[in-house]
Amino acid sequence: MSLEISMHSDRCFRALIEHSTDAIALLNPDGTVTYASLSIERILGYTPQEFITINGFDVIHPGDIPSFAHTFQQLLATPGLVDTKQFRSRHKDGTWRWVEATVTNLLHDPDVQAIVTNLHDITEWKQAEEELRALAEQKERYVGATIVKITEWKQTEESEQLFRLLADGAPVMIWTSGIDKLCTYFNAPWLAFTGRTLEQELGNGWAEGVYPADKQRCLDIYTSSFDARKPFSMDYRLRRFDGQYRWVLDNGIPFYTPDGTFTGYIGSCIDITERRSLEQQLQYSEQKLRSLVESNIVGVAVTDAEGRVYEVNNHLVQMLGYSQEELLSETMRMQHLLVPEYQEVRARAWKTLVSQGASLPEEKVYVRKDGSLLPTLVAAATINQERSRALVMFLDISDRKEAERRKQEFLGMVSHELRTPLTAIMGLIELALMQIDLRLRSLAPDAEELINQVEQVLKRASGQVEIETRLVEELLNVSRLELHKFELSLRRENLVTIVQETVANQQQAARTRHIELALPPDEVVPVMVDAGRIGQVLTNYLTNALKYAPVDRAISVRLEVEASVARVLVRDQGPGLILEQQQHIWERFYQVAAPGHQGPDGGLGLGLAIAKAIIEHHHGQVGVESAPGRGSTFWFTLPRASKETLE
Ligand code: ADP
Repeated sequence: MSLEISMHSDRCFRALIEHSTDAIALLNPDGTVTYASLSIERILGYTPQEFITINGFDVIHPGDIPSFAHTFQQLLATPGLVDTKQFRSRHKDGTWRWVEATVTNLLHDPDVQAIVTNLHDITEWKQAEEELRALAEQKERYVGATIVKITEWKQTEESEQLFRLLADGAPVMIWTSGIDKLCTYFNAPWLAFTGRTLEQELGNGWAEGVYPADKQRCLDIYTSSFDARKPFSMDYRLRRFDGQYRWVLDNGIPFYTPDGTFTGYIGSCIDITERRSLEQQLQYSEQKLRSLVESNIVGVAVTDAEGRVYEVNNHLVQMLGYSQEELLSETMRMQHLLVPEYQEVRARAWKTLVSQGASLPEEKVYVRKDGSLLPTLVAAATINQERSRALVMFLDISDRKEAERRKQEFLGMVSHELRTPLTAIMGLIELALMQIDLRLRSLAPDAEELINQVEQVLKRASGQVEIETRLVEELLNVSRLELHKFELSLRRENLVTIVQETVANQQQAARTRHIELALPPDEVVPVMVDAGRIGQVLTNYLTNALKYAPVDRAISVRLEVEASVARVLVRDQGPGLILEQQQHIWERFYQVAAPGHQGPDGGLGLGLAIAKAIIEHHHGQVGVESAPGRGSTFWFTLPRASKETLE
């Protein structure tokens, strides 16, 4: 029974599809047609059997393919997505038909596994739309022609009364004047517009309603055209019945009797306020864009996702050293000028552009024609509905980069100079402490007391020198990183050993604290690293944990082995960090301002920035998971090396 129902509903369903005015086609991801309903013949002339030998893209008008292909790509990327597109499709008889297609991605649906396309013939609708547009464009010409008709009619009928009847019913404001230039008539729409009587408007009365600043220009055009017996067209502001000045377009033509005698002018007026403000808005946005492009403060280009350049301003031409023709040539692609490390930044920026319409400023380095490097800050916004083209702005930041380089060099020099005397001071303190330790003969109690005091002071001084040495070392590290003078000596190492040794050192230095260590079952986790630098990163995580977490809480260190990376995690039960702080702590000189986050020895906020740079130099990643009051887990990963024996 249920089988019968199902067969019946299946037949119903088929009959519905077959007789629907919409055609339904099923497409594969490559566009080939796997099914087409009967109605396809009504729309495109092909029988379903003929249509399924076709690739859907082959019948689309070449001019519409890019936009349809874009929609299709997006559709393929998003299961369940529905989109509607209008395009021209080739009929079997060779003519082009406008169709509207609603496409749905049901590739993931086990019963369908296709892109379902509903096609609807909209050719007539498109033609009507086209005619309407043409009609709208002709409107002004039509109004002019109407006036001529009225004029001719007035001449032949010589019926002033009938002329007025017709003019009063016209959808425009109409006026006439005599050979003395004075106005002799205004139709009902004119009087309704100005809210004045015919008597008030006659002669030169109408000019009272013209906006004072426009009046002289208006009268000049009217008088000079009149004297030359020439048609005129002028716009001016005219006061409406409600006191508001509206922009009107006034067209006047000389008027002759059949025997050629000039009898004055006849004119028509329409309210163009809305049109003008639309035009002005358009002009304004066009001007805004133009002034940005032409100001030559920043380099500007219009490009697409493939990097093809459609427009460039002079500034960009100068920045890159290529001529405008070279940049606009068919074969030029913006990414060919980009330093390889920044290709990924560009690809990411285009993804954001397509999804959000704009991408935030990012640093990129281009190669000029002469081979020199051009550091830039680049931001972009799409300029069309499909988001396939973007206006890209390039700010030359070479000066800023150079200043930064000089600052880093200075920092490097200063820290280097500071390090030498610090080492000497430390050496001297240690020597003094050693001599105190080795004091050979027993001293008088007073002198012993004094020596003990001196020893305490020297130990405190040694602690301070150690802090200072670490700060200077951090400054030196940062400046080396910035100047790309950071050298790593990579060797095959066992990460287990590095972690064990670093933890042991820290435990030694903070004997009262409890550091737990959890290692993986594998005794050897090979990595290609600079062991000293990796130890430095873990030391930084550990000293932070010791510094910011309460002394009675354990700190745990874990080494985990994943498919392609090894991960080291340091968990503390300290104050934790909010999301915003988690994002900023990796920046140079950033320190959390909240209470509980300042360490006892006042760091510089450089440790984590250095850790991040070191790990990234090893092609690994850093991160933190944390919540306020719930502690923090700082981690880093390193690519695992193959399991050969360690050197
Ligand atoms: P600093 O020398 O100031 O410790 P870091 O770069 O190592 O510099 O850390 C940056 C800031 O991040 C610190 O000033 C501190 O406010 C915060 N921070 C780092 N580690 C922790 C942690 N384990 N718990 C809470 N806050 C931390």
